[in-house]
Amino acid sequence: MSGTIFDHSRPGREGLSLPELDVPRTDPAEALGGELLRKDGMGLPEVTESQLMRHYVNISIKNYNIDRGLYPLGSCTMKYNPKLHENLARLPGLSELHPLLPDGQVQGTLQIMYELSDLLCRITGFDACSLQPAAGAQGELTGLLLIRSCLESRGEDHRNQVLMPDSAHGTNPASCSLAGFEVVSVESDQHGMVDVDDLRSKLGDRTAGLMLTNPNTLGIFESKVEEINGLVHDAGGLVYMDGANMNALLGIALPGAMGFDVCHLNLHKTFSTPHGGGGPGSGPVVCNSLLEPFLPQPRVVKNEDGSYGLSRGGSQPVGRLLAFHGNVGVMYKAYAYVLSLGTRGLEEVSRNAILNANYLKARLTEAFDLPFDSGPCMHEFVVSGSRQKKEHGVRTLDMAKRLLDYGYHAPTVYFPLIVSEAMMVEPTETESLESLDGFADALLSIAREAEEKPHLVTDAPVNTPVLRLDEVRAIKELCVTEPPSEAGKAND
Ligand SMILES: *Cc1c(COP(=O)(O)O)cnc(C)c1O
Repeated sequence: MSGTIFDHSRPGREGLSLPELDVPRTDPAEALGGELLRKDGMGLPEVTESQLMRHYVNISIKNYNIDRGLYPLGSCTMKYNPKLHENLARLPGLSELHPLLPDGQVQGTLQIMYELSDLLCRITGFDACSLQPAAGAQGELTGLLLIRSCLESRGEDHRNQVLMPDSAHGTNPASCSLAGFEVVSVESDQHGMVDVDDLRSKLGDRTAGLMLTNPNTLGIFESKVEEINGLVHDAGGLVYMDGANMNALLGIALPGAMGFDVCHLNLHKTFSTPHGGGGPGSGPVVCNSLLEPFLPQPRVVKNEDGSYGLSRGGSQPVGRLLAFHGNVGVMYKAYAYVLSLGTRGLEEVSRNAILNANYLKARLTEAFDLPFDSGPCMHEFVVSGSRQKKEHGVRTLDMAKRLLDYGYHAPTVYFPLIVSEAMMVEPTETESLESLDGFADALLSIAREAEEKPHLVTDAPVNTPVLRLDEVRAIKELCVTEPPSEAGKAND
């Protein structure tokens, strides 16, 4: 069965039969006034129930997803998450609330939000939390606005530069510009960590702060983090940690104790909602007591009588970041995730994520270059396809496409920017030894093909519903609609 649902439509066909009305019918023309009535039909597809079901199921299996196989997308943490959490978040008492209901009628949800804030503070070693931001990038913006408000309150608004390593995630410089700061890039040293001398030379009177990802985007723990944060503080700046990827730190290390002032988390990566697919997301911000007064309002508070409510005011709030209170559905899942794992379980998540990444790294370095070898990696690592490109004319992009033929989603490619032909691999804690081996075997086999029969790789994919696209045409003449097909009609 192919084509769009409209290709299957036949006039008068129905998916649902309703009994005859046994109450008087209101004449729509009378109720609405004739001029508001639609002149033509609604143009909805007319199909049977089974046609409808088959159509969507067939579309769903054309796509690759975490429920079908390993999804080693570095930095994005595509891991299997318990389906039970989806069920919990869909309980009618939670999912059918209206955000304008009075506090007294949403005590359960307010309690969950309050306790989740507290759990996230404990997991990160911070004092206060705002659950409002709806994505990691919005969390970054929030954190930077906290820094800006704090500097303004000290009369230091001339501090307008934010430093960040050249390996930073693309959202970091974008959030900085949006918050009105100038970005100053800091070089990485030969171990893939912040070059502390370069950092020192760029600190000064105009330094507002530093944004650091730890573990960084190469999957390497910045072991000089305390020294780095001390230098920024001594220069009068504040430090932001990009905590989008907490898979290696959960239950083991506290960003608050490393000297950071503020950090955001991606609940839709680490805490039981997969990343990708355009949302919904949740990027809470946690910070120390210095920045707490500037957090966006409202926040969930516990009243003296033990009930929960929403704060209004606060001394110098950044203001609202979002209508209402953020993506509460994602928060329910995060809350269930943390409580079901407990302290020991969270630590086990990190240890398994780190173990899996190191195992895969050890297997893949048999065929691929490792640009920065600083010993064991954290939850992810970056290898380079430079050797395959130089020796056989096979690019990382080709190998990523070939992986589709082997039944795997590709890792993140061409990021971080400081690694040429980068492949950024994050297996996550939820993969078994066999599935890690399956992926390693596939990639090693592709490396052998690159050597022996490179056209197999450069022509890939050959087994997917859509074959290789002309990249330039796909951008310049983007077409995402399918023309009505005769084949589709015949296949009905
Ligand atoms: C995913 C990610 C972000 C951005 O998160 P979004 O929810 O996609 O906005 C920021 N920093 C790092 C390191 C990330 O991996």
